[in-house]
Amino acid sequence: MLNVRDKNSASHFMTLALKEAKKAEAREAVPVGAVVVRNGEAISAAGNETLDDPTAHAEILAIRGACLYLKTPVLCDCDIYVTLEPCAMCAQAISLARIRRLYFGAYDIKYGAVEQKLRVFDFALWKPEIVGGILETPCARVLQDFFEKKRTGEKDAKTICLAKEFVLRR
Ligand SMILES: [Zn+2]
Repeated sequence: MLNVRDKNSASHFMTLALKEAKKAEAREAVPVGAVVVRNGEAISAAGNETLDDPTAHAEILAIRGACLYLKTPVLCDCDIYVTLEPCAMCAQAISLARIRRLYFGAYDIKYGAVEQKLRVFDFALWKPEIVGGILETPCARVLQDFFEKKRTGEKDAKTICLAKEFVLRR
């Protein structure tokens, strides 16, 4: 359980991650954001990108940014805040980076690989402390709104396909 002080700082950094998610949405990317924090300071922040790169998830980009900033591949004194439960690729990247704590917002019952059927950290070399559900409602809402717009509006086959598959916990 998080104490009140931890809850406040978790909400603070998740709000920053949410801002990154909204920036991602503005560039038509799936609105997921991530922030890496060290000693109470956000050292790297990123949202999903629309590059021609299927690995350009917020967590991967934020981890790369933090490693470049600290000039190390090991982030064992860092925490990561992500608006959505990480997928298998990102969970593995968090493990490889030896991140101390993972805080995430919404639960992704389809592609989440932390607390769903696939639990990557159960098999990983390194398992961070995990706290899910931080600002879950606003983190989920930004995704639901995005896919709702995609469903009703654009005829982008790829995104519609994603929208059909995407299921949040609520
Ligand atoms: Zn991912």
